[in-house]
Amino acid sequence: MVDYRELGIRRVVNAHNTLTAYGGSLMASEVLEAMENASRWFVDMHQLLEAASARAARLTRNEDAFLVNSGSSGLLLSTLAAMTGDDMSLIARALEQGPQQLARREVIMHRCHRIPYDPVLRLAGAEIVEIGNAIQTFDWELRAAINERTAAIMYVAGEHLRLPALSFERVSEIAAEHRIPVIVDAAAQLPPKENLWRFTQAGAAVAVFSGGKEIRGPQASGLMVGSRKFMDAVRAHAFPWQRYGRVAKIGKEEIMGLLTALELWLERDTDADVRRADTVIEEWRSSLLQRLPRVEAVRDWPGEAGRPMPRLRLSWTPETYPEASSIDESLRSRDPAVVVFVADSHSIWLNPELVDDADLDLVVDALVTVFEGAGAS
Ligand SMILES: *Cc1c(COP(=O)(O)O)cnc(C)c1O
Repeated sequence: MVDYRELGIRRVVNAHNTLTAYGGSLMASEVLEAMENASRWFVDMHQLLEAASARAARLTRNEDAFLVNSGSSGLLLSTLAAMTGDDMSLIARALEQGPQQLARREVIMHRCHRIPYDPVLRLAGAEIVEIGNAIQTFDWELRAAINERTAAIMYVAGEHLRLPALSFERVSEIAAEHRIPVIVDAAAQLPPKENLWRFTQAGAAVAVFSGGKEIRGPQASGLMVGSRKFMDAVRAHAFPWQRYGRVAKIGKEEIMGLLTALELWLERDTDADVRRADTVIEEWRSSLLQRLPRVEAVRDWPGEAGRPMPRLRLSWTPETYPEASSIDESLRSRDPAVVVFVADSHSIWLNPELVDDADLDLVVDALVTVFEGAGAS
């Protein structure tokens, strides 16, 4: 059996977030067991996807759902589905001539919603049409961007983007007037649980979630929820067919793992997660205040991307310690590595959510060693 150490891979203590770059999240033993059981049978994948989608739809209070190998794949399939619908002649055209040859291929995005994940829309053949600016967006800008080439509006959910963008409800209303599907990227927008049904109930054709982030499913999994009509178009492009959506292939093990993780997460007491985070933050804060008196430590709210989770912010003056990027680098070069969120030039955030109880002191010790070492030089 190959093991991380044999490859020279160090363990990472994750005080950052469910970042793909650090392995997403850790799966519960029930999820691993479901994956192992799934690995023992051959099954008809069309049947499995249908049954698993129906289960995921019921769990998330949606009309339909589809399981894929990542949130990004969910965006790819959503874009393809929006450009062709379930019209097989358009799908055939896209397959023969390339999706760039489709007449309806513009996807409207707020400029403030441009994210590092959106190149996948271009991969699907879409042209991104921007509205608004970094500070504000008006209704008329959305209306003016809509024309006969518009395939969809892509809306990136998140409290952190609320101010410069039109509200989701407003976008949904305008889209409905023009019968244009709205694709919601909610990949990391959990909790709250309601986000699994809120966007689709308010009119989105589809909402896309990462399976390997908060849901704590397999890292290579993604969940799409939405209307039956839209999901029919998604399925027409998707795995197991040999079409563009083949790249979104999800294995039987990931399907069963994701479903199990979703069930567990929906039963999870997310208020208890917040209380646990607050307890850890208070413990970290008081030990750091004692051991690193020149570092200011305060509880912050909300968490990354506007998520309803507290985190601890550490700040210091340029006279006391070096820049946050250098502290970050020293923390990351330890064994085990400790990863944190660099907030600005002289502050970092610590998120206790993914740090095991057994590693809580290790985080404080690593910080003290790194700060003291850096301060002395
Ligand atoms: C993580 C993320 C994605 C991509 O999801 P993956 O499952 O990592 O492919 C897309 N959009 C946003 C906002 C994300 O945070």
